Amino acid sequence: MRLNDFNPANIRVRDQRGEGGGGGFPGGKGSLGCGGLLIVLAIAYFTGADPAQLLSGLDQAQVSAPQEQAVGGRTAAESCAVNEYSHEACAHLDSLNRTWEPKFKAAGIAFEQPILEFYSREGQSGCGAAQSAMGPFYCPSDEGIYIDTAFYDEMAQQMGAKGDFARAYVIAHEYGHHVQNLTGISRQVRQMQQQNPSRENALSVRLELQADCYAGVWAALNKDRIEAGDLEEGLTAAHAVGDDTLMEQAGRRPVEAAFTHGSSAQRMKWLRIGMETGDEDKCDTFADLKP
Ligand SMILES: [Zn+2]
Repeated sequence: MRLNDFNPANIRVRDQRGEGGGGGFPGGKGSLGCGGLLIVLAIAYFTGADPAQLLSGLDQAQVSAPQEQAVGGRTAAESCAVNEYSHEACAHLDSLNRTWEPKFKAAGIAFEQPILEFYSREGQSGCGAAQSAMGPFYCPSDEGIYIDTAFYDEMAQQMGAKGDFARAYVIAHEYGHHVQNLTGISRQVRQMQQQNPSRENALSVRLELQADCYAGVWAALNKDRIEAGDLEEGLTAAHAVGDDTLMEQAGRRPVEAAFTHGSSAQRMKWLRIGMETGDEDKCDTFADLKP
């Protein structure tokens, strides 16, 4: 995918890398605004590699409004210039903003840009500890897309998901969760999960597949920058992060009831639907859900 030009002043970026990284983060102990324990579900994790590991981040309090930019002492421009991957992720973020903001405007729904949160190995988020092992994730309470860009190398080397469009898919998928957060879909699903814990995983899968579809919608609406091989890279990445593939890789037998993100076939299917239609209304992954 040919990268778009972007102005770092127009995107929201924070950086926990390097000296002082993580310091000054305004979160973790914020007051519970909703009465009782607020469950921040594991809707957001990209790989779903180890659900048990994710549980640590599930019961965190929401934090107050995020502090913007330069937490680690860097400006957005500096954060985006730390390395190639950072630059690329910032460009993806800007492109995603440009694609999604007009859609919200048109629908009359309030839009807010998410914050791209760079961290390295261990960081903090409004949803608890950010750890590289979790893979990239979105935290609804602080609207942060959290990424340790070392994940991109891991994805290429260990998961066989190479290429710039595979990386674009990662950010676009997390952005999909931001869209779900703004539209209220994720909140609705959270309520359904609380009412019916036995369907928690099945509902999580729908949410994840929708985020994949939204990633495809973004790609479709930026066709002019798609290059030969991009779509294949995206589909390969979607296959690589399927629950069955991840479980097999980990030496476990795939058990559908334990899926939280969807099978490889499902993830490829929904990414493709987004890419082929460019229409978020076609991303109704809940349509066939039995009452
Ligand atoms: Zn996700």
